[in-house]
Amino acid sequence: MKAVVYDSPKNFTVREIPTPEPKEGEVLIKIELAGICGTDLHIHEGNFLAEFPLIPGHEMVGIVSSVGKGVTDFKSGDRVTVNPVVSCGDCEFCREGSPILCHNRKGLGTNWPGSFAEYMIATQDLVFKVGNLTPEQAVFAEPAACAMHGIETLGMKPGSTALVFGAGPTGQILAQLIAKSGAAHVTVAASTKFKLDVAKNLGADAIYVMDRSNVKKSFEDLKAMRPEGYDYVIEATGNMDIAEICVPLTRSGGTMMVYGVGETTDTFPINAFDVFHREITIKGSFAEIDTFPSTISALQSGRIKTDGLISHRFSLEEYGKALETLRSDKTAHKVVITF
Ligand SMILES: [Zn+2]
Ligand SMILES: [Zn+2]
Repeated sequence: MKAVVYDSPKNFTVREIPTPEPKEGEVLIKIELAGICGTDLHIHEGNFLAEFPLIPGHEMVGIVSSVGKGVTDFKSGDRVTVNPVVSCGDCEFCREGSPILCHNRKGLGTNWPGSFAEYMIATQDLVFKVGNLTPEQAVFAEPAACAMHGIETLGMKPGSTALVFGAGPTGQILAQLIAKSGAAHVTVAASTKFKLDVAKNLGADAIYVMDRSNVKKSFEDLKAMRPEGYDYVIEATGNMDIAEICVPLTRSGGTMMVYGVGETTDTFPINAFDVFHREITIKGSFAEIDTFPSTISALQSGRIKTDGLISHRFSLEEYGKALETLRSDKTAHKVVITF
């Protein structure tokens, strides 16, 4: 089969390798569509816990090709997606019911073979049927599952107001889920107008086009739009200048959530007295681990909409071009690899 194989950071080729055989409890999936995400840019650089050699790719939909011994829930022809996050089940966090914090967590496409290949293997506990979803919808199962986990983390009070910085695919889906989880008003702020138009179409109440080179002005404008502040402010860009204005824009008693992926060394200043005096909560939400079933249901019912999010399609051979498009093309939203 053909696969994107990294031998070391930044050093990959698209080459022919043996197609894996499913062992006991494993499912072999023929990939139909695989999404590229900002994390893949970090992995390209060798960050985000990447281990090499590596086949990247953690957002996918495909058709079951064959199954190993003992697999009874799947048969060839089933359209499925895969939860790429693997927990050990044995460490203190797994045992206390928080597998997302697992000490021995692994990720398909990060430190196990992922989906930028014609075929991939997953153990059956990570595989989910997508029913009547189209490949174009089902390819969003993983980013949407991350947004669903974000909703759980947020623990939002109905009737609240929210401000989401960032209109990338997971930011968009998170904003939708916030709006549909009983928020009174959701504002999405981002630097790309066309992404904000999609956000508006998908359910944001207000949008704000920000100039990332002038975050101070964005702060003043967003403050003027809601002088008392927003009950929930979500940082979904990974940009520390934006992270810095989140607590000041949070309403007293409200919550800031760090949801965007920054660099491992990124920091941002917080006024401790302000957090103390106005009783601000700061939370983090990372990835997903057990939200695939609820997410697939929400995609099937149309509660999560992904219309208009896929902007670019490339073949596996064009992986380098696809990465470059995501990195630097202002018209890129969700970039997918087609097979
Ligand atoms: Zn991702
Ligand atoms: Zn564990």
